[in-house]
Amino acid sequence: MVGIGDTRVLVIGGWGRCGSTLLDMMLGQIEGFVSAGEVREVWLRGCVENRPCGCGDPFRDCVFWSRVGDEAFGGWDRLDIEAILGVRYRRDRAWGIPRLLLARSRPLDGELRRYVDALERLMKAIATVSGASVVVDSSKLPMHTLLLARADGLDVRLLHLVRDSRGVAFSNTKHVLKTVTAGRPTALPRNGSVGSSARYTVYNGLNDVIARSRMIPAMRLRYEDLIDDPRGKLLEVARHASGDDHHDVTFLRGDEAVLAENHLVDGNPVRFTQGPLRLRVDDEWRRRLPTRQRHTISALTYPFLRRYGYPVR
Ligand SMILES: [Zn+2]
Repeated sequence: MVGIGDTRVLVIGGWGRCGSTLLDMMLGQIEGFVSAGEVREVWLRGCVENRPCGCGDPFRDCVFWSRVGDEAFGGWDRLDIEAILGVRYRRDRAWGIPRLLLARSRPLDGELRRYVDALERLMKAIATVSGASVVVDSSKLPMHTLLLARADGLDVRLLHLVRDSRGVAFSNTKHVLKTVTAGRPTALPRNGSVGSSARYTVYNGLNDVIARSRMIPAMRLRYEDLIDDPRGKLLEVARHASGDDHHDVTFLRGDEAVLAENHLVDGNPVRFTQGPLRLRVDDEWRRRLPTRQRHTISALTYPFLRRYGYPVR
């Protein structure tokens, strides 16, 4: 039940390298919206590993996230991070989804309730500290979305961002290093054709199920359409998230997005970009994805290509 004063959260759902970080950053340029990045990762990437925020500062030195920690928990150090991470690893898993979807009115058990309460406090603090009325969370994974939807004080909307499975698979073969504060950088996960197709099917399929369940107001957007018509599509997404028709998207100039500093906690390294960013569809896969791989992926993800309106050949 949505109440007055609930914090509005727009979760970007999807899988793999579908442009979710870029969409999160673009939405964050709109008045009243704040980009939080992959909020699901705040406990590990932020609190434990102290990785750089989108602003470039290590998480614990970032003024924004320090204020969020103070507001939500009286400081990050007051949080029982081991307990939170334990629940996150044990319970925030794809196999918990059918139960959450089928038993919507059943109360959550103790540890899951505490985890959801921590997420709710975090989201409310992000809204308070930023002054925004919509928090954008590009965590993508469907179980996280369903857990947020169980928070009494959050009003959650889903934006299911899809991309051509062959483009996702090709991006997944590329080596992209994540920036770390100390130690060796780690790479974004890579997957082969079959692994990529299987995950594409599972995670997009689950987002489709959530959208159809009408548990959360949902909208689907193709990454390629966003890049083709950033202004039009961004306004559609902003309307879906805020319920408001009027938004200023003058940061979009021609085929560029002029991006201000952000505090995305985790996500694709594009989050370290500031200033003008040229928007273009990354369709390198059309030239460089080997024919055999292309056929394998097209066959394995065929129902999804059809559903999302991508040409199969
Ligand atoms: Zn920051």
